[in-house]
Amino acid sequence: MSEWFDEPDPARIGHPHERGLRFSCTMCGNCCTGPPGYVLVSDDEIRALAQRLGMGEQDFRDRYTHRTSRGVSLTERETEFGFDCVFLDRTSMPGRAVCGVYEDRPMQCRTWPFWPENLRSREAWRRAARICPGINQGALVPVEEVRIRRARTPGGP
Ligand code: SF4
Repeated sequence: MSEWFDEPDPARIGHPHERGLRFSCTMCGNCCTGPPGYVLVSDDEIRALAQRLGMGEQDFRDRYTHRTSRGVSLTERETEFGFDCVFLDRTSMPGRAVCGVYEDRPMQCRTWPFWPENLRSREAWRRAARICPGINQGALVPVEEVRIRRARTPGGP
């Protein structure tokens, strides 16, 4: 079934005929902060993160996670920018906000911005682009890959 991102977009500046979506992270950190939210983590992801930090799994859970109505989430800390993910690192790279556990980041982070709610319509994608400057920039992500990432989003279809 064809979806909006599988069709040419005359409004797409410079690339009106391509299929798929462009995305390249600029490391601004906007997707890792904002109003209070969720960074859902699975048991396997918790194990990997705990191992990375040299911590016991239960210590990790106690220190860095909390239960929510949607599942276990990483905690956030309130900063001048909003509620940052506890692993967002704003100091290592001046002017950038980077993930401090990037190689072991949860699937919810790996699949951004190809979340079901952002792909619901062209307008939803444009709304997401107001938060994420990496949207509509950089490398073209082919339609099939867009679908794969969407399907992998926790809570996705
Ligand atoms: S909001 Fe977009 S550009 Fe900024 S860190 Fe997140 S993915 Fe990267």
